[in-house]
Amino acid sequence: MILTMYTRYASAALLLFMSGQVFSAGVPIPLPASGITLTSSGELYLARSQDPGFLETLAKFSVVAYKRGRTLIVRLTSDYASLPADIKSGLRIVTMDEVYNAPAGFKVSEASRPEVRALLAKVSGVQLKNYAETLVYAGKRSAAQLDLKNGSGNKLAMDAVAGFFKGLGLKVERNCYKVRKFDKECNIIGSRAGASPGSRIILVIGHMDSVGYENAGADDNASGAAGVLEMARVLAGYNSDHAFVFVAANGEENGIIGGYACAEELRKNGLMSRLAWVINMDMISWNKDGVVELETNKEYLEHAEWVSALATTYTTLKPHIATPAWGSDHVPFLEAGIPTYLSIEHWEAHNPCYHKACDTLDVLSWGYASEIVKLNLAVVAGKAGLTPIDIKLGER
Ligand SMILES: [Zn+2]
Repeated sequence: MILTMYTRYASAALLLFMSGQVFSAGVPIPLPASGITLTSSGELYLARSQDPGFLETLAKFSVVAYKRGRTLIVRLTSDYASLPADIKSGLRIVTMDEVYNAPAGFKVSEASRPEVRALLAKVSGVQLKNYAETLVYAGKRSAAQLDLKNGSGNKLAMDAVAGFFKGLGLKVERNCYKVRKFDKECNIIGSRAGASPGSRIILVIGHMDSVGYENAGADDNASGAAGVLEMARVLAGYNSDHAFVFVAANGEENGIIGGYACAEELRKNGLMSRLAWVINMDMISWNKDGVVELETNKEYLEHAEWVSALATTYTTLKPHIATPAWGSDHVPFLEAGIPTYLSIEHWEAHNPCYHKACDTLDVLSWGYASEIVKLNLAVVAGKAGLTPIDIKLGER
């Protein structure tokens, strides 16, 4: 184990070296791409948003110290105290030993199990697309738009998800955390009990809100919310020793507000300590090269390697691992010490319409999204006992 961890960090250091961005105390650091020379003094900050507008403003106050895939680390060129509030809240101090960003190392392998293959065969790309379509055509889905009488796509999305969960036989709850002018901002939660009252819980989350363009936010994140619904639909055909909580989160684009509210609710209800595993899907349907990114924190690298092994055994995906985590609904759970990862499209080649009005349905790949849903179901099958509910022909 220690040797394995050492090898991982050695390879991360090698990557840093290869990219020309070497960090060593007290030594000037040349950055060939930009021609800027930095000293290693001063704090490093992780960008917790990659919204194009945020990055444009951030560039006025900082220089890039490290950039690979989802990991953007900057040094400030202005005093932290003088930064605009939204830039401050989008940064956190980071150290380079938190950073790992490379294809999975394939340190472990997983044998193929026929019963898992049977489970994964139930995933439907058509169903995924149908769920996503319903959300996209709800209209403007930003939680911030809930107080506009004519722009309540967010409310329609909440209602639609609640209807889908109910149709799957789940217990439906509105985890409302903010009152808007004409409505309440809520996460929609569908849950089912496990074999006993104290059963461990697997929580699957994906945000249903968007940045607010009309009939957009298809990849970000109608696709991930559809993934949550599809996992709930497939698992409805199975009994399990584990309880399941499926969350369509709200307000993610306004600072992971729904994700934090959900974590708080679980803490209040004494359920947080029963969480065995959390799976997040955010942007799972733009495919350039078949790579899936698994993002977590350093302490869960081994878990990410295990998920990567499942990807190789059960899917066509090529896994890439990134730490540390930022900017989606897995973060509140990582901060609570729960093993958690984000599954997301390859960030080096991510959707060019990210946070733009052109993030529409027509360019998405539901075959690729299906592979990511299959991977996450393989993770569930690796953690929970699942028994198919035997429905004889004609019973339902
Ligand atoms: Zn998103």
